[in-house]
Amino acid sequence: MRKGAPTFRKRRGKMARRLASVDRRRCVSCGACENTCPRNAIRVWKGLFARVEGSLCIGCTLCARVCPAVCIDMRERSVE
Ligand code: SF4
Ligand code: SF4
Repeated sequence: MRKGAPTFRKRRGKMARRLASVDRRRCVSCGACENTCPRNAIRVWKGLFARVEGSLCIGCTLCARVCPAVCIDMRERSVE
């Protein structure tokens, strides 16, 4: 393993602490995030904007990477 590279466990822990968040004003309803999400955690709602189901999101960042409008941010989850 590359020296200093994070272990899988550490990376997974970091992912689980994050959550995708959509800026609805900038969303163009293209569906790219919906088609990319491995957990079906983000959906375009009534053709208007994408919404994230927080209980399903694992914080993988794939949706944020494909969004053409750059309107998905990764936020820290609040402690429950
Ligand atoms: S961060 Fe990953 S799991 Fe969460 S909504 Fe985006 S693609 Fe889905
Ligand atoms: S990829 Fe971005 S612009 Fe397209 S539906 Fe998802 S959040 Fe909206």
